[in-house]
Amino acid sequence: NERTLAIVKPDGISGNYTSSIRKVILESGFSIQREVTVQLNEDSVRSFYAEHSTKSFFPNLVKYMTSGPVLIMVLQKVSAIADWRALIGPTDARKAKITHPDSIRAMCGQDLERNCVHGSDSRESASREISFFFTDTFSE
Ligand code: ATP
Repeated sequence: NERTLAIVKPDGISGNYTSSIRKVILESGFSIQREVTVQLNEDSVRSFYAEHSTKSFFPNLVKYMTSGPVLIMVLQKVSAIADWRALIGPTDARKAKITHPDSIRAMCGQDLERNCVHGSDSRESASREISFFFTDTFSE
């Protein structure tokens, strides 16, 4: 079994997509091991997305991710990281609507920035991101 970090971003929460997203998660065989709804501050977003700090879209990303509460979840299943990335679809929600119409981003995202969900992209980032938000330990 593998764990990954999922986030329902502010547009996902304000658009009332939380229960539809939760349904897809459970129907796809994930178990939700932890969940918390929080309002992120600018410093925590800067640190979470540190790899993007030099990108031109970074200030907008910080504004977007602090614009309202987010739902942070630890998901578990076999191949959780790749399977959750496949389920959410491409980063650009506008493209997702065309190429991956059944994806979560096609369902609730709007464009390249406001794409309603996050998923860890590797084992290293999953482990970093889970510890970023959840300081307790997991038992297998
Ligand atoms: P995430 O890390 O949130 O799962 P991702 O791995 O698909 O998304 P990244 O390239 O890591 O995409 O970008 C992180 C986030 O920054 C994106 O999800 C999106 O909200 C925003 N973003 C990425 N590229 C752009 C861009 N060119 N313009 C505006 N926002 C962007």
